[in-house]
Amino acid sequence: MTRLLHVTGPDDPAILEAAAVLALGGLVAFPTETVYGLGADGLNPEAVARIYAAKGRPVTNPVILHVADVAAARGLVSHWPAEAQVLAERFWPGPLTLVLPASDRVPSIVRAGGPSVALRCPDHPVALALIRAAGRPLAAPSANRSQHLSPTLAQHVASSLGEVVDLILDAGPTEAGLESTILDLTGNRPRILRPGPLGPRELAALVGPVDLWEGAVKTGEVQAAPGMALRHYAPRARLELVAPGTGVRAVSGAVAYVGLGSLPTLPEGVRGILLPLDAEVVGARLYALLHELDDAGFERIFMERPPEGEAWLAVRDRLQRASAKEQP
Ligand code: AMP
Ligand code: MG
Repeated sequence: MTRLLHVTGPDDPAILEAAAVLALGGLVAFPTETVYGLGADGLNPEAVARIYAAKGRPVTNPVILHVADVAAARGLVSHWPAEAQVLAERFWPGPLTLVLPASDRVPSIVRAGGPSVALRCPDHPVALALIRAAGRPLAAPSANRSQHLSPTLAQHVASSLGEVVDLILDAGPTEAGLESTILDLTGNRPRILRPGPLGPRELAALVGPVDLWEGAVKTGEVQAAPGMALRHYAPRARLELVAPGTGVRAVSGAVAYVGLGSLPTLPEGVRGILLPLDAEVVGARLYALLHELDDAGFERIFMERPPEGEAWLAVRDRLQRASAKEQP
């Protein structure tokens, strides 16, 4: 049985217990401000291999190393550019992952064999305390089976990964609800590989023009950045995006309709769910809502397409991936 321990704060003794599990090469799921992570000692290749096995994650998809501060990050790269310093000073701890040239301390499996490493300092007292107690960077992708919904509650981890996690630290719901923004600093210009809670404008204000990797927002693209598969973050139910106000014709089975800002009249038997027209609130609620609808046995979910515009970039990206057809 997987053990689940409630953690009240950074001084909770459960954190030392979790660090001991990590030191032995075990897996610990822990909260961050974005989603729950599935953590292992990021310098121990066998421990990191257990993450891949537990998630059913393709080995071509690299993992992010979580550090407690800039000094630890600098020890994992061969070059720490001025942009990294400026961004880390402003946004760490926070939902910003930086892709940088890796030092040879970083095991190949963490990098999926590539030359770069993704680094982030999470803004959560429990995550930071755990990283410090472990005394190591923690490799930690989202704590769910590959391609499934990311967990925003400890219960989501337990139901998705069950037996394969040694310990789950439960500190309640995560705050941002969507995965970190990933910014690649290895090219000529900073480039967003995955939109997230921090938008291009906030980043550009500090480092100048920021490119957006096309596949990060468009559907129909083949995978061109590691791990950015088109279908991802998907619920079990079939999710379809519709124009605002469309509503739904009478359909059979368990159907939900998610409106943004308002709900059209819906046929009998369709569960209407109203979310505010607020990107931050929808981002924070989205995965938990999809988990709830899955658990309640809904087969189809219609959701109104969010507006264009930067504020909705990350939500649009996740919804496009969650609604993409199964890849062969
Ligand atoms: P997650 O599974 O949510 O933790 O996300 C990890 C994602 O970070 C991967 O799917 C990649 O898209 C990205 N990533 C991690 N390491 C690298 C890297 N070295 N270069 C580019 N992207 C990376
Ligand atoms: Mg993930």
